[in-house]
Amino acid sequence: MDEIGADEVSLGDTLTTVYDVLLNRYGPQHWWPGDSPFEMMVGAVLTQAASWTNVEKAIANLKEADALSPRAIRELEQDDLARLVYPSGYYNAKARKLKALAEFIGSKFADDITSMASVDTGVLRAQLLGVHGIGEETADDILLYPLDKPAFVIDEYARRLLFRLGIAPEVGPYKLYRSTFTDNLPEDTKMFAEYHALIVRHGRENCQKSPVCGGCCLLEICPTGQSTEVVLHGIDD
Ligand code: SF4
Repeated sequence: MDEIGADEVSLGDTLTTVYDVLLNRYGPQHWWPGDSPFEMMVGAVLTQAASWTNVEKAIANLKEADALSPRAIRELEQDDLARLVYPSGYYNAKARKLKALAEFIGSKFADDITSMASVDTGVLRAQLLGVHGIGEETADDILLYPLDKPAFVIDEYARRLLFRLGIAPEVGPYKLYRSTFTDNLPEDTKMFAEYHALIVRHGRENCQKSPVCGGCCLLEICPTGQSTEVVLHGIDD
């Protein structure tokens, strides 16, 4: 296998190799879980600083209350909504964020998710970033999974993996990590969705804060993993 950093290997080739290796190791991840695009959007907000297990509990509460639509979220009292999303943590803040998202979808698209999805990706992304509580990662989650738009989601797992593979941007605001993928891979929504899910899976199973490099499927192309010190002792992020 070519070595990362060798002159003849482009960043696109490296990213494609990493994708192929991860897909071969873990298989398709079938993300994002949810029965409807709006439920996926709610999950994207609730998963901020929360485990998915707790997000599932909050979504189950919303389902039981028949509150998984933009209109239902708008009509709920703030306190009642906060009570329903309590398991996901930061429940008052998250209730406000969900209300802001539901207001946005209602006022801009009359609750029509198909109409929302028809907006140009860059335009819609900028609009989403103007909604209270929606940052770059959440905006890209919403674009990519519920709306099937070609966005790439950057999270701590992705930052860590790029850094350890030696291909992280020198300075690292979100957009540089994002463009590392979007500028060097074909614009393929299905691949972007699968790639992010695979990075998360790999970050949980091997490339944790203290990486488990022995047996890692990327070890052969990972300079960090090939460092004896890291293999034996882990590294501090
Ligand atoms: S070899 Fe180690 S540092 Fe490299 S990707 Fe695998 S777990 Fe992460």
